[in-house]
Amino acid sequence: MIDRYGRDIRYLRLSVTELCNLRCRYCMPADGVCKKAHDEMLTEDEMICAVRAAASLGITKLRITGGEPLVKKNIASICRRAAQIPGIREICVTTNGTLLPELAKPLREAGVSRVNISLDTLDAEKFRYITRRGELSQAVDGIHAALDAGFEKVKLNAVLIGGFNDDEIPALAELTRRYPLDVRFIELMPMVDSRDFGPEAFIPCTVVLDKLPELQAVEPDGGVAKLYRLPGAQGSIGLISPVSSHFCRDCNRIRLTADGKLKPCLHSGDEYSLKGLDYDGMAEKIRQSILCKPSWHGALDAANRSRAGRDMNQIGG
Ligand code: SAM
Repeated sequence: MIDRYGRDIRYLRLSVTELCNLRCRYCMPADGVCKKAHDEMLTEDEMICAVRAAASLGITKLRITGGEPLVKKNIASICRRAAQIPGIREICVTTNGTLLPELAKPLREAGVSRVNISLDTLDAEKFRYITRRGELSQAVDGIHAALDAGFEKVKLNAVLIGGFNDDEIPALAELTRRYPLDVRFIELMPMVDSRDFGPEAFIPCTVVLDKLPELQAVEPDGGVAKLYRLPGAQGSIGLISPVSSHFCRDCNRIRLTADGKLKPCLHSGDEYSLKGLDYDGMAEKIRQSILCKPSWHGALDAANRSRAGRDMNQIGG
């Protein structure tokens, strides 16, 4: 579907749960989320119905996210059923990786082609700090499990945080030489609950170019990242700059939250509920919401926080 600004909307990010086994400081509150009533959340059948309706309108790429999608008991079934929907050509999962040792193979067998694993630091102490409870070794085991399971692509997502991990840019980038991995550096977005972070934490992705002058620009792959490569590396380095240089003009995404709210823009409070609708109702609501997708997400920086009205774990990133 083409929206009012000529953007071809092909990409749905489906959050399957708000719950997570970690508590990343920029993503969710320390005490987790207030568990919503079961009947407020989309059922597996409703999720699949929504993906079918979205596919009928031109969605070809599906990303499963959360919360932590791998804490969802029926995650393999959701992926398997979504992969069989006509029109869906690619299913990706974004995860913190800690449950991949058990789930990488079942997800690959269910039809997931790519996984993105969030990893902001290679230091066990800092990992515990930023996730408020996680063990780095579990995430690292998950990365190895993903590499062994034979996904078409394994990417690491690192949120750049000034004064926290900017000193680790070279070490994170170096992983692309040692492993067949891509690394994406993502600018920290000022969400509702990311008040731990002052202005100094919001650093632009261009810092990566300053730290790694040997990076060579490579052709874009159709995504929102500006791509580079270290000489001799197996994987690419991508810079994703939603704050310093927004890519709204090329945004081809819509998001569906675990409680059934369709968000045409990550940083807008506009939401369209699909909960309780049948296939035709969902298709019509998705169509309407695409036609209401705003041209851009508005100013976003330490002083202008996201107007999403939710933290990232309740949207899906
Ligand atoms: N639990 C999964 C994970 O850790 O990847 C999936 C959900 S998480 C919300 C999806 C992505 O959003 C992660 O890569 C995370 O780092 C990113 N994210 C969350 N809050 C963010 C923020 N304030 N700014 C930038 N990225 C953020």
